[in-house]
Amino acid sequence: MTQNSLIENEFSYLDENYKRVTFEIEEAAIKSGRNPGDIKLMAVTKTVSPLMINHMISLGVDLIGENKVQELLSKLDFLTKDNLEMHIIGHLQSNKVRKIIDVVSMIQSVDSVSLAREISRQSVLHKKETDILIEVNIGDEEAKTGLPVEMLFDTASEISEMDGIRIKGLMCVPPICDDETTVRKYFEKTRLLNEELKSFLKDKEDISVLSMGMSSDFVSAILEGSTLVRVGSSLFGMRRY
Ligand SMILES: *Cc1c(COP(=O)(O)O)cnc(C)c1O
Repeated sequence: MTQNSLIENEFSYLDENYKRVTFEIEEAAIKSGRNPGDIKLMAVTKTVSPLMINHMISLGVDLIGENKVQELLSKLDFLTKDNLEMHIIGHLQSNKVRKIIDVVSMIQSVDSVSLAREISRQSVLHKKETDILIEVNIGDEEAKTGLPVEMLFDTASEISEMDGIRIKGLMCVPPICDDETTVRKYFEKTRLLNEELKSFLKDKEDISVLSMGMSSDFVSAILEGSTLVRVGSSLFGMRRY
């Protein structure tokens, strides 16, 4: 046995997690009358080592999400990147945009015009188009990032005029709640907003992504129309900070 396969074997428990999560995604997709292939699985890799991430990639994961620019950059050289897409999903400071503009294919956590303006500026400088999602603070929580819902359409309208940046849809992290009915209401509200946004921007943008659902609620999110689920602990186990 080679050194590498020894290390790989240490992570074989991840296989079970991956199987279970992809099975549950499939089941929920079918239940919601959609094709399982229409729902994208993102592995959320904050606090997870490159070795574990690479094991997940060997199982079939081709999209990872990180919250922090520095953490993503520190792992970059160690990842199997052949088919890998990377997204930023955490609060992003404008002064960090230039560091990741060539690394990520999407920024899911855009919650201000000023951040969008910097993404636009850097994209033009780097001669690329950057896909973004607007993160909405769907529960209207004071301590949370995300754009207040009442500012969504004005903000989207302004961003849609910028060069080098394409709005693809919405992202949300609903309030923590343990009953399914309540969480589904937040997901439904976000889907309806995304549909409104789609018709609002129909001549300018192709709205096709709805990023919602994490380990505890991705099944509910899919039943309410999510097209991209962001799963961390159900894939990798509890995070140790
Ligand atoms: C950490 C994180 C996730 C994944 O959370 P889990 O509950 O571990 O699946 C998803 N989305 C965002 C924005 C996160 O910060």
